[in-house]
Amino acid sequence: MIEQGEQITRNDIKQNNLIRVLNLMRSSETLSAQELSAQLELSLPTITKNLNELIKLGLISPCEIKKNTGGRNSRLYKMLSNVHVAVGINITRHHISAVVINIKGEIIARTRIRQVFRRVEEYYRIIGNIVETVIREADVTDEQVLGVALVIPALISRDGQSTYYNGVLNETPVMECREFSQYLPYPTRFCHDGKAASYAESWFSHEPEDFFYLMISDSIIGTPILSGRPYVGINQRSGEIGHIRLVKNGRRCYCGKKGCMEAYCSTKELSSITDGNLAAFFALLQKNDEQAAALWDEYLHNLVIAINDVRMLFDCNIVIGGYLGEYMDPYLDQLYAMAVDEDPFTDIIDYISVCKYKTEASATGGALMYLDEYVQSII
Ligand SMILES: [Zn+2]
Repeated sequence: MIEQGEQITRNDIKQNNLIRVLNLMRSSETLSAQELSAQLELSLPTITKNLNELIKLGLISPCEIKKNTGGRNSRLYKMLSNVHVAVGINITRHHISAVVINIKGEIIARTRIRQVFRRVEEYYRIIGNIVETVIREADVTDEQVLGVALVIPALISRDGQSTYYNGVLNETPVMECREFSQYLPYPTRFCHDGKAASYAESWFSHEPEDFFYLMISDSIIGTPILSGRPYVGINQRSGEIGHIRLVKNGRRCYCGKKGCMEAYCSTKELSSITDGNLAAFFALLQKNDEQAAALWDEYLHNLVIAINDVRMLFDCNIVIGGYLGEYMDPYLDQLYAMAVDEDPFTDIIDYISVCKYKTEASATGGALMYLDEYVQSII
C-alpha cells in the first residue's frame, strides 16, 4: 500500500520523464526520438512530447536527418550545449585553475596558473582576469554565464557567501565571497572543494548511487554521497575524515590536534622527499627507490586504517580522488592486500576504486552545480 505522502502524481511522472530525456540528451552527441524511446523504454508519443518541451525551453534543437537503411529516415536532436555555461575556479595555496563548463558537462575552456594565495586586492584582480580570459576563450557572452563557483579548501556557510574555517589556506576563519568577487560581474559563491569534486564524480558516473568520496591531495576531505547527492551535514562538514585520530599523541595537524589522518595521509607526506613534487615521488617509486618504497608502504598502512573506518561506518564503496587518485591505479592491488587485513568481514576487497573523473574535478563540480540548479529551475 502506498502511504499518502508517497503517492506519485501524474505530474511527478511527467517531470521525471522530462528529466530522463534531458539527462540522456546531456550525455549523448545526437539522438533520434526512436533511439530515446528504445533506451528509456518510453513510448514514441511521450518522447516526442518531451522533446518539444525541451525545444521550447531552448535546451535542445533538431539537427540533421539520419538515413536508416531499409526504413524511414529519422530526425536527430542535440543539446544546445553552450547556450548556458558556468565557471569553476579552484583556489589552492599555490595555484588557481579555471574551467568553463557547458550544460553537457564538457570543459570548453580552461587554464591553470601558479599563484600563491593571498587575501589582498591584487589576488582578487587576478581571479577577475582569469575568469575574463577563459570566458573569452570559450567564446560566450556574459549573459550566457550562469555563475562562478569559487572552489576553496575551507568550510563554508550554507548560503555559500562566507567561510567559517580556513585551516588549509592558513587564513582567519571568516572570509566573505564579496571580497573575492569584486572583479566578477556574475553571480558568485564559495564552494567546498571536496564536495565539488565528489559532485563531478557522481555526475559523470550517471548512476545515482551511494559511495564515499575520499579526496586526498595536500589536504584530505571526505564526502558521503547518498543517491547521487552529497550528504553535507548540519554544519556543512560531513565526512571530515582527515581529522579522525590515527595515532594517539601523534604528529601535529594544522587543526591543532595531534595524530589526525591529515598528518599521515595527505599527499604532502609523500612529496616531502621530493621537494613538494608528487609526480617526482611516484617516478622514484616506479624506479623502486628504497626510501620512496618504505615511505609508500607506511603511507598505505595508515591509509587502509582510515579507509576501513569509512567502510565500517557506511558499508559503501569508497572512491579515491584528489591528487592521489591520479597516481593510484598501478598500486591498487598493493592497497587491497593491506585493506583485507583490516576488514573483519571479507577476504575480497571490491569496494575501493579510483575516481573516474580526474580533470579539474573540484572546479568542474562547482560549475556543474550552477548548471544543474538552472536546469531544475526551468523544468
Ligand atoms: Zn586535524
